[in-house]
Amino acid sequence: MKVQPQQRVIGMLGGMSWESSAQYYRLANELLRDRLGGLHSARVLLASVDFAEIEQLQVAEEWEQAGDLLAEVAQSLEAGGAELLVVCTNTMHRVAEQIQDAIGIPLLHLGDTTARAVTAAGLTTVGLLGTAFTMEQDFYRDRLAGHGLTVLVPPADDRAEVHRIIYDELCLGQLREPSRQFYREVISRLVEAGAEGVILGCTEIELLVAAADSPVPVFPTTRLHIEAAVDLSLSP
Ligand code: GLU
Repeated sequence: MKVQPQQRVIGMLGGMSWESSAQYYRLANELLRDRLGGLHSARVLLASVDFAEIEQLQVAEEWEQAGDLLAEVAQSLEAGGAELLVVCTNTMHRVAEQIQDAIGIPLLHLGDTTARAVTAAGLTTVGLLGTAFTMEQDFYRDRLAGHGLTVLVPPADDRAEVHRIIYDELCLGQLREPSRQFYREVISRLVEAGAEGVILGCTEIELLVAAADSPVPVFPTTRLHIEAAVDLSLSP
């Protein structure tokens, strides 16, 4: 019998929203099939939270409580056999440290996997699209800056609409042409302001926006995150 590479179990902390978690699950399996061939598929444990509960804590700025909740779910993934963890949302990396402190397995930080892809492409100045929390607070931009990147965010009006489309449409599975057109316009304005690439820094945006919607390279954070997780799961 042919010896197959050992696969570590990927723990996915999802549900934020489930629209993008479904994408994580699909991509993990497609990547494993492509790498190992045959009937190979990904060894995954998925824990999915109720996003309404998380969104209320976000709006109330109850980050510590949200962190406690997610840390507990991460512990259950570790107890169930997960050997590495991906938190399937950019925004909730606000509490990544709190989650990592509660577990003994590595949390693969989405800011790092994104930044590595940007630097590998030879770029240093990037536009960032995401929720208002991701675009306006320090936790994510600082993580990118730690890799030597200069991060540009859209002006306030654009940020508000980018945020609204995420929560009112994308997290509900609604992909609308006028919203895609709006994102295209925001990307053009970021490019005019000096962006050499654009980070799709919310795990649902790549359901709506693709490379063809941008004159500069886009960095789809869900795909980049799960690619890095699959690499790690297969590494010796
Ligand atoms: N999935 C989104 C993100 O990547 C937004 C949902 C959330 O607030 O977690 O930021």
